[in-house]
Amino acid sequence: MGVDYDTIVEEFEWNIPESYTVTSTVADHAASFGDRVAVHFLSDDGHREERTYADLRDGMNQFANGLEELGVGKGDRTMHLLPRHPDTFVIQLGALATGSLLVPCSSMLRAKDIEFRANDCNATTIVVHESLTDMVEPVLEETPLERVIVLEGDEDALDDDRWTTFQSVMDGQSTDYDGPDLAAEDPMSINYTSGTTGQPKPVLHKHRWQYCFNQINAPYWWGVDEDTDLEEELLWATTGTGWAKWFWSPIGVGLTTGATQLIYDGDFEPETFLQILEDEGVTKLCAVPTQYRMFANADLDDYDVQLNDTLSAGEPLNREPIERIQDAWGVTPRDGYGQTETVALVTNYPGIDVKTGSMGKPTPGVGATIIEVDEEEEVETGEIGEIAVPVDSPAIFDGYYEKPELDEQKLSGEYYRTGDLASQDEDGYFFFEGRADDIIISSGYRIGPFEVEDALVSHDAVAEAAAVDSPHDERGSVVKTYVILAEGYEGSDDLKVELQEFMKEETAPYKYPRRIEFVDELPKTSSGKIRRVELRQQEQEKHS
Ligand code: ATP
Ligand code: MG
Repeated sequence: MGVDYDTIVEEFEWNIPESYTVTSTVADHAASFGDRVAVHFLSDDGHREERTYADLRDGMNQFANGLEELGVGKGDRTMHLLPRHPDTFVIQLGALATGSLLVPCSSMLRAKDIEFRANDCNATTIVVHESLTDMVEPVLEETPLERVIVLEGDEDALDDDRWTTFQSVMDGQSTDYDGPDLAAEDPMSINYTSGTTGQPKPVLHKHRWQYCFNQINAPYWWGVDEDTDLEEELLWATTGTGWAKWFWSPIGVGLTTGATQLIYDGDFEPETFLQILEDEGVTKLCAVPTQYRMFANADLDDYDVQLNDTLSAGEPLNREPIERIQDAWGVTPRDGYGQTETVALVTNYPGIDVKTGSMGKPTPGVGATIIEVDEEEEVETGEIGEIAVPVDSPAIFDGYYEKPELDEQKLSGEYYRTGDLASQDEDGYFFFEGRADDIIISSGYRIGPFEVEDALVSHDAVAEAAAVDSPHDERGSVVKTYVILAEGYEGSDDLKVELQEFMKEETAPYKYPRRIEFVDELPKTSSGKIRRVELRQQEQEKHS
């Protein structure tokens, strides 16, 4: 980045082309460099496939024609339940090209989750991989779904009229598609939030969302801008197809910039992933903190990687993996922050002097700031407040799908409030404090769970920890931590005392956990986020 970042932020101007859509962008890429590989697919059984930009365009058009023939059109809701697959993009782009609203579902969801989503957004079509049909069939009658398209399905095995296969939808269709005119301000997708704090919420996005990723996430997080030689890069975002992160990175950065990306279908195993980084020559990796933490426990020096960027998002990134990866590979994991409702709001942009524990600085054009929890005033430097974005920022969502009460609650003021707390230091760096709901107030002190957990996991005995507020007669509440021990350690009262003493050294003593419980697992969302809300409930029940 030649120009200094503050100047970029100051001079940034939005110039969103009225007709922008990701589908037309992919068609443009196909016209300019159709033989460039868009998807470099690899699965855990060694299967490889490639899709060029021309393949994506042709497949998208065929699938759109097929969907249209089935009666899918503008404004309909089309769900998908897909693993990472060479045809995932074709399915997503084809559905978008018809003007239907895409409703991505994580392949980890269960039948009741599909039932909830299909009813909540009144979906009429679902595309499901053959291996996941058990998540649809038992609840189909309870939903408005009219048709089910099975990827890798066997037509002869389907006896109900509602069921068909991806292949038969594609067969005989033209690779030209004359669909509806779509524009940046047309609705594009309904992305459900992770459900960390409650019921998942249906976030409505317009096509503009993808343009914002191209303008913000690509240059100011992934380090992909007009000076990047895309022929030299291989991007890998490890996310699943149903999460907002899939739209942030594989689509929002990979497809919108015309990059080549790796899609790997296989479970996370640190050694396997590290070997893939080396073997495939990945240059930019985007993973989640749990994955970086597990990498940090492996022998990183054994892997000869070509990474020039490592990105992290979704949860706070601890100090330990940042330092380990820096030491081993000379590349600094750069955290970025945002939500299903937004683009990247705060990032450690390329070239920033990373301060460990900070999620970076506000991205250009977006306007993220920190305001008082009860008012719309910006807080002073160093004070904790809620991360907020002006409601008229193009980088946020278009409301929750048919949820006027939620919209009223979240979007009726001057700011969209994220529900996340942070403070800013004198250099403008943001420090995440936790979700407003997760903050622990003990003897009048406000304690963010992350700082407790971060300190605790730096003890050798601790593999993972979750801190919550636990009711206490005198103090109102105290810090309680649930701890998963590292291999080779056993829980005991002595170990509790040792951890408490350790914490008094590591953090301000009022933050030390007065209550500790050793557990084998923590309640998590299917995307792997700790559901502190459940632990809090347990504490309420135990101590009230
Ligand atoms: P729900 O809204 O249903 O409770 P969710 O908020 O977890 O679920 P997502 O939109 O997937 O759903 O996650 C966004 C949240 O993840 C943010 O609001 C924030 O709490 C957390 N988050 C994302 N990136 C970071 C980061 N870099 N550091 C800390 N927290 C992060
Ligand atoms: Mg949320």
